[in-house]
Amino acid sequence: METKKSNSKSNSKSNSKTNKSNEKSTKNSMHSSQLMELFVDELKDIYWAEKALTKAIPKMVKNASSQELIDALESHLEETKNQVTRLEQVFESIDKKASGKKCDAMEGLIKEAEDIMESCEEGAMCDAGIISAGQKVEHYEIASYGTLRQFAETLGLTKAVKLLEETLNEEKAADVKLSEVATAAVNVDAAEIEA
Ligand code: FE
Ligand code: FE
Ligand code: ZN
Ligand code: FE
Repeated sequence: METKKSNSKSNSKSNSKTNKSNEKSTKNSMHSSQLMELFVDELKDIYWAEKALTKAIPKMVKNASSQELIDALESHLEETKNQVTRLEQVFESIDKKASGKKCDAMEGLIKEAEDIMESCEEGAMCDAGIISAGQKVEHYEIASYGTLRQFAETLGLTKAVKLLEETLNEEKAADVKLSEVATAAVNVDAAEIEA
């Protein structure tokens, strides 16, 4: 197995010049229809994810104790509902019917959040766990919208770029807000409990 691997490595090395230029021309000639397909696939993925979050965030609110955290989650829930609508506008702008495709990653992140909430004691410890799970969700969304915006830009979809950027900025702000809540109150209280 290892020999095979190193063989193919040295093979590709000896051909590296030809391979590289082949690769480059393949990349450059990637049809915009293929990029469009990928764009739509990822749109469906995040559309599913946002809709799942409109159901998951209320459970986080229910399990949160700190008023600051509750406020942050509730305000992001309203943003999230609006993000679903915004994605429908993106679909509309490219003449596609809005439809979702299950996002395995978001399903897993939500499952982790639920596991944390099932196993934590109410209060500061639970809040810290909710923030941790919430920030993982925001980071996934930031990655998704960053990519989607870039694809839209490459495809020349001006309207979509604007819509996706609005949501991207909200996700970044939500992440910053959760960090602030964590440093302001929750993590301090959790440390005090431990001590
Ligand atoms: Fe979102
Ligand atoms: Fe995904
Ligand atoms: Zn996904
Ligand atoms: Fe978000």
